[in-house]
Amino acid sequence: MKTDELEKVFVSFFKKEILLFFKDQTQYGFNNKRDLDIKKIGISVDLTLDVIEKAKNNHVDLILTHHNIWDDYYEWHDLCLEKLVEYQIVHYFNHLVLDNAPFGPTGSLVKGLGLKQLYPFCKLSDFYFGIIGEFKEAISLNEIQVRLTKYCGHEIRVWQNNNRLIKRVGVVSGSGADIETLREAYLNQCDAYITGEKKSKSLLYAKQVGMNFILGSHTFTEYNGLKAYANLIKENAKDIEIISLQENHFE
Ligand SMILES: [Zn+2]
Repeated sequence: MKTDELEKVFVSFFKKEILLFFKDQTQYGFNNKRDLDIKKIGISVDLTLDVIEKAKNNHVDLILTHHNIWDDYYEWHDLCLEKLVEYQIVHYFNHLVLDNAPFGPTGSLVKGLGLKQLYPFCKLSDFYFGIIGEFKEAISLNEIQVRLTKYCGHEIRVWQNNNRLIKRVGVVSGSGADIETLREAYLNQCDAYITGEKKSKSLLYAKQVGMNFILGSHTFTEYNGLKAYANLIKENAKDIEIISLQENHFE
């Protein structure tokens, strides 16, 4: 499928309002866009030099990531762009637009943990990036730990700050380390908060207010949301092969 055709598929799962809001193309769009016949897509949460090498070795035409190669990546940013040009590989990323989608990283995580969605939280402009959910029956912190470990595929960390069984949880996949979001979960009577990044002040805040803090990794609380996106693309571009370029857990 031609790059331009594929671009239409890439944006077809999202609301016009959010695509317009982020139309400056820093949150979704291309790097090294070129007119190719795309046969193989490789997916990874981040774009790194290792991912690009893996893509080249696997004859990938386009790398689909969650994160852009942000300007503040300094040398990493420039080296990746140079390699994409050298290998003639197209890069497409979808960050906050995907984060807001029901099938995106947070939506997939909520579903994967067996939570029922109550309402969204963690708002930027008109768009939400977190979900407050509830378990049908309250479960132990240990059971959540087991479920999140399985979901992420690596050991996760838990800060236990209350002894209650857990019914209501605030979930923000990836980077949800700020106190404001944590507080919103607390004010919404959450027994626990699940995210992929931490700050010492957020851990201290959770301790002060008595809310459990459960930490996966940024990458693997998000990866399944990217996979869900890739599956939708595959359904709409059946001749395209999609492979994983995801690197192992390192955080
Ligand atoms: Zn992220």
